[in-house]
Amino acid sequence: MSRSETVEADSAVYKTLLESTKAIPWKIDWASMTFAYIGPQIEPLLGWSQQSWISANDWAERIHEEDRERVVSFCIAQSQNGIDHEADYRALTADGRYVWIRDVVHVQRNAAGETEALIGFMFDISERKKTEEQLLALQKQLEEYSYKDGLTGINNRRMFDSVLEVEWASAQRTRRPLSLVLLDIDYFKQFNDHYGHIEGDDCLRRVAQTLEQAAARPRDCVARFGGEEFALILPETDGESAKKIAERCRRLIGQLRIPHEQSRVAPLLTLSLGVGTLVPEAEDTPQAFLAEVDRLLYQAKRQGRDRLLHGHCGGGEADSCRA
Ligand code: GH3
Ligand code: MG
Ligand code: MG
Repeated sequence: MSRSETVEADSAVYKTLLESTKAIPWKIDWASMTFAYIGPQIEPLLGWSQQSWISANDWAERIHEEDRERVVSFCIAQSQNGIDHEADYRALTADGRYVWIRDVVHVQRNAAGETEALIGFMFDISERKKTEEQLLALQKQLEEYSYKDGLTGINNRRMFDSVLEVEWASAQRTRRPLSLVLLDIDYFKQFNDHYGHIEGDDCLRRVAQTLEQAAARPRDCVARFGGEEFALILPETDGESAKKIAERCRRLIGQLRIPHEQSRVAPLLTLSLGVGTLVPEAEDTPQAFLAEVDRLLYQAKRQGRDRLLHGHCGGGEADSCRA
């Protein structure tokens, strides 16, 4: 083979190699800003024919509007400075869809160090992007789930603890009263034993949704506290208003008219409630407040259930709630 034949054979090999890879090769002449070459693989990927890539503008116009400015100005700046670079963007297809592309660019310079051409490969990264997006969505969902109760869909104990901490600090700063309601279903063990756990779960869902209606101010927090216990955090709410909201809870649950044949207080499902209010002093703690309201709930149970007990709490003593 003569030398020119060898060069020809070599370039045929390179061409075959370039055009059979999944990555799409291209070359742009810097002075004229035109495509010197683009691989035929571009057509099956984006639908635009090989011949339709004439100027660098054709490339820029086929970038998603939201990505265009960022990508074009970045690539121009890097190219001017002779720096190899890469960019991810959404490329427009001929039928109006978008495909995520990673463009990896090598800047070719002449002997004087001036930019002469850009040589690059486009990679189809849509699968990877899809996975990334799915992972992000999953992560977001997990974050949400970790603050939601799986059965009822309302806030869980973890959310309750976080909100109580924030509202506690706020009440300390503003000196506005903070109220807390603890609610426990009466004779729920008997309910489960009699109607079964599926009915029991359904009942818990209905109670949860009803309580959410009862405390509807934006900062109110309704949470499932434990098995068949619920809690309301009522910021900037004095004792009288808290009692009203607790009464509303009882009334709305009564209106559900959920049969409870085995209850010893009524033929329908009922609640017992402890309601506490305080303006936290330096010596008070959320834990002691919670314990005080829990004690009021326990007293409501002992006094016959299906009732609420309210107390003014705080003052440093762990059991200073005065019902
Ligand atoms: P009291 O009037 O004193 O509150 O009596 P109680 O039976 O309601 O109280 P206890 O705490 O003894 O029983 C609570 C019951 O709640 C026990 C359990 O079977 C039921 N429970 C707790 N979590 C769930 C749940 O997720 N689903 C169902 N179906 N039942 C639950
Ligand atoms: Mg209980
Ligand atoms: Mg109970």
